[in-house]
Amino acid sequence: MTTWPQDYARAWTLAAAVERAGVGLHGGLPCRVRLAPSRLPGYRVGWLDDPARPLQRLNPAMVADTRLCTALQLGDRRLATVEHLLAALAGTGVSQAEIWVEGEEIPLLDGSALPWVEAIAEAGLEALGERQVPALPAEPLTLQQGIGFITAFRAESLRLAAAVEYPQAAIGRQLYSIALTPAAFVAEIAPARTFGFREQVEQLRAAGLIQGGALDNALVCDGDRWLNPPLRFADEPVRHKLLDLLGDLALVGLPKAQVFAYRGSHGLHTALANAIASTNLTPLPAESTASTPPPSA
Ligand SMILES: [Zn+2]
Repeated sequence: MTTWPQDYARAWTLAAAVERAGVGLHGGLPCRVRLAPSRLPGYRVGWLDDPARPLQRLNPAMVADTRLCTALQLGDRRLATVEHLLAALAGTGVSQAEIWVEGEEIPLLDGSALPWVEAIAEAGLEALGERQVPALPAEPLTLQQGIGFITAFRAESLRLAAAVEYPQAAIGRQLYSIALTPAAFVAEIAPARTFGFREQVEQLRAAGLIQGGALDNALVCDGDRWLNPPLRFADEPVRHKLLDLLGDLALVGLPKAQVFAYRGSHGLHTALANAIASTNLTPLPAESTASTPPPSA
């Protein structure tokens, strides 16, 4: 059994490279990811099929689409469904890594973060020095989209909470809150799989989306029952919401904060990540003029 870091106080990277391949949720096409150690903070994406292209450090300003997953725009390339991989890296304590990709999506694997956690365990972790922790403003941050909202305020360590409410009786109302540590993430959050709804699945398929979605990589809810039980946890849907929240926050780095998402979505999560990023912008040097592009966070 892997020994995970105690908490998120220090910086960690992978001890070796590790690879996983699979299909993408949306295109249903093969894709591959190689995770590799990095001496630099944050997560940097490079392309296995275009290795001469410089690596780009991920940040929440790259978010291009949040309707079904978190998709990033990296120059002229699109990278979809980054959230479960980023949740696995951030959740296990890996604060910096290179992510080399072939294809336009991160493989969905079993729809949870567990296969990525297993890949990280296979690579092993290497302790580095101080971790860069994004600061929060003194006042709580609150963002709203429709009836959903997300709020974050400063705390001694990271605590996440999520609440979901669905008319479908199989899910209904669920609340989950956790004082996050790498071990707690691996045991309580990482195994929770993506979920969807039967009627929505049929519509999206007809529209040419979620071509890679199948009953073995997403829980499908049909009113008061699941099409593909058993669940891994009775409250697997809300735990998956926390997994998505963590993956989206990983775009800016894990803050020392208490975060609560009521009816959260990738749109809300990444809006919070952007709000945190904008409070952490490095001030421009005094000699800069207005014509200088601002730092990209
Ligand atoms: Zn998800």
